Amino acid sequence: MQNDEEYLKLLERAYILLPETATITVRFVPPKIKSQIQGKNTVILNISEVSKLINRDADLLVKYLLKELATSGMFDGNHLILKGNFRQEQIQRKFENFLYDYVICPSCGKPDTKLIKEGRIFLLKCDACGSRNPIGLAKFARKITEGKIKEGDILKVYISRLNEQGDGIAEHSGYTVIIPGAKDGEVVKVKVKKIENNKIYAEIIERQKV
Ligand SMILES: [Zn+2]
Repeated sequence: MQNDEEYLKLLERAYILLPETATITVRFVPPKIKSQIQGKNTVILNISEVSKLINRDADLLVKYLLKELATSGMFDGNHLILKGNFRQEQIQRKFENFLYDYVICPSCGKPDTKLIKEGRIFLLKCDACGSRNPIGLAKFARKITEGKIKEGDILKVYISRLNEQGDGIAEHSGYTVIIPGAKDGEVVKVKVKKIENNKIYAEIIERQKV
């Protein structure tokens, strides 16, 4: 290297040549809800732990779960005791919906967001991409599309994990979308091939740069 200036120029050029995705290093894995059925109740053991991980108020998450599971409950600051029996997967699905409504940035799919209030509107402000979106957008979309998605529809989804077969898994409008060949953490446009109960089988038609 002849001098510092030349080195910096070289670095700059190398950075420009990097594909946009090369700057993404950490992938978001939704935390797992731990629950236990006790008699007529269900106890969620890690509400405060999980709330800290997603950087949201535990009370907000509790309120959401009670409403979505249509039950009452008691939160002692640590455990949430729900009236009635609920399977872990059932609670996990509601929790992941919460992530899409209140945590994950709809623009870039990352969870590094803050809830801010502007006038009477709550916004999701993303530290990763800088975008601001009103909360409740995802929820609204889910409400109007529930039961209305059909074969051949095109969806835009965020791959939040892979299943045991290595297929990409996304949550959309209350459905679990299974997409062979999709990579963890990417945003893809997919075509719906088959719908079974709450599962959608889909194929990639376009990959999106994040
Ligand atoms: Zn973002």
